[in-house]
Amino acid sequence: MFKKFIPKYHYKSIYEIDYLKLKEQGIKVIMFDLDNTLIPYHEALPNNDLFKLKEQLQKDFKIMIVSNSKKERVERFAKAYDILYVKFAKKPFKSGFIRALDLMNIKDKETVLFVGDQLLTDIFGSNRMNFNSCLVDPINKDTEALITKMNRLLEKLIKNLTILFNKKAKTKFNNYEVSDD
Ligand SMILES: [Mg+2]
Repeated sequence: MFKKFIPKYHYKSIYEIDYLKLKEQGIKVIMFDLDNTLIPYHEALPNNDLFKLKEQLQKDFKIMIVSNSKKERVERFAKAYDILYVKFAKKPFKSGFIRALDLMNIKDKETVLFVGDQLLTDIFGSNRMNFNSCLVDPINKDTEALITKMNRLLEKLIKNLTILFNKKAKTKFNNYEVSDD
């Protein structure tokens, strides 16, 4: 029942992902969530580290942004970063992911890695799409909106239930650090 909430991969941040291993495993496309995955909520534009990462990634992968945010900041960020994007994606529903696949003309879902910081939207949604899901820890939880804070409570409950019912999940969440504050 909770299988779809288990990330295939889990890393502390986008900078710690083993991209070489993923390439060897057949990943060709990387879709990133925006808020708290690439940048915290209080920042608007890509920093130098992100530009360096993009330069490295684009040698091996097609990359894009799939964000639930309706705000103009998605557009502004994606333009500054010069990559394709889908905003107001409505993750975990499939429509935004399908828009993303269409935009990049991707047919083979198994070649897609989705990277995001939320179980309920990013991981659940991308597992439903049969993408490879990758959880990263949120960059800064303090600046999250109330709805996200509420999602985090639910996320914690689901994570604990998932581990309770699925022993394998424990290894997937092994490094996941949920603060108790
Ligand atoms: Mg996010």
